[in-house]
Amino acid sequence: LTRLYTPLTALANARVDVMTALVSFERVFEVLDLKPMIEEKPQPRKLPDGPVSVEFEDVRFGYPAADKVSLASLESVATLDSRGGEEVLHGISFRAEPGQLVALVGSSGAGKSTIASLVPRLYDVDAGAVRLSGEDVRDLGFDDLRRAVGVVTQDGHLFHDTIRANLSYPRPDAGEDELWDALDRARLKPLVRSLPDGLDTVVGERGYRLSGGERQRLTIARLLLARPRVVILDEATAHLDSESEAAVQAALGEALRGRTALVIAHRLSTIRAADQILVVEDGRVVERGTHAELIEADGRYAELHRTQFDEAPTAA
Ligand code: ADP
Ligand code: MG
Repeated sequence: LTRLYTPLTALANARVDVMTALVSFERVFEVLDLKPMIEEKPQPRKLPDGPVSVEFEDVRFGYPAADKVSLASLESVATLDSRGGEEVLHGISFRAEPGQLVALVGSSGAGKSTIASLVPRLYDVDAGAVRLSGEDVRDLGFDDLRRAVGVVTQDGHLFHDTIRANLSYPRPDAGEDELWDALDRARLKPLVRSLPDGLDTVVGERGYRLSGGERQRLTIARLLLARPRVVILDEATAHLDSESEAAVQAALGEALRGRTALVIAHRLSTIRAADQILVVEDGRVVERGTHAELIEADGRYAELHRTQFDEAPTAA
């Protein structure tokens, strides 16, 4: 039995990687030939135009358990991980008003990335709801969701496809000059220019191998190109070297302007600029407020502030 489950779990982990990559549902499942656990409603609702609010209402969530898989359900093991099974979010509620920047802070394993992954609907909640401008994300069309929500994570996952395809995925209509402009602002233009196939270079495991920082900057370029109305940054500058850091940070700041953002960050400058800070511990929001309010309260945030956040060399 163990032998049967081991490769399955490894495979499932690989799938989680691909999924987290890009908020691409149909495409991932196309590649993997799986039946999605996340399905689009036959008559999806439209996300209203204009700035978007993000609301979590008493959200409970646990990753699906790998050990509960039966052969009969093998087709739908898309989001399994050997750690699954237990509830990791125990009733998360908050509301980011249109245009607000909400920062999530807390120790590693607290549930910040999990919260972030529920907005583009990489997983569905077990109870409660995630809403964009009042619409439950489960009721929205995938196209709407993909266009509205942009994600940059620490790992900068990419499709095994060309740079062009990876970039223009949320903006298939983008022109050549727009692609180069986005690459330029993410400080990737010289690199892509130097590649024999330029924009048509295939990246990924079996293609041209980008460094962690380059992968991350490519996902940042995608964000700059798509200008989504909701921006999720999950430790989005973790791999940037100091040379590209300031420039890319500035470009990201620009991408955030007027957008609703959920930012998981260690940089004090970013956190300090937030309209609202949520302190997450063990799957719960244990404190919330502005930087000044939370320092004044002298609780968990004040402690993190003393021990964990990096001072930023540049303003965010
Ligand atoms: P943070 O981003 O705050 O460090 P995470 O949201 O990544 O925390 O993790 C919250 C909890 O969920 C942790 O206990 C972690 O082990 C678990 N977890 C994270 N990702 C997965 C996954 N893909 N499958 C199963 N468990 C996971
Ligand atoms: Mg995380």
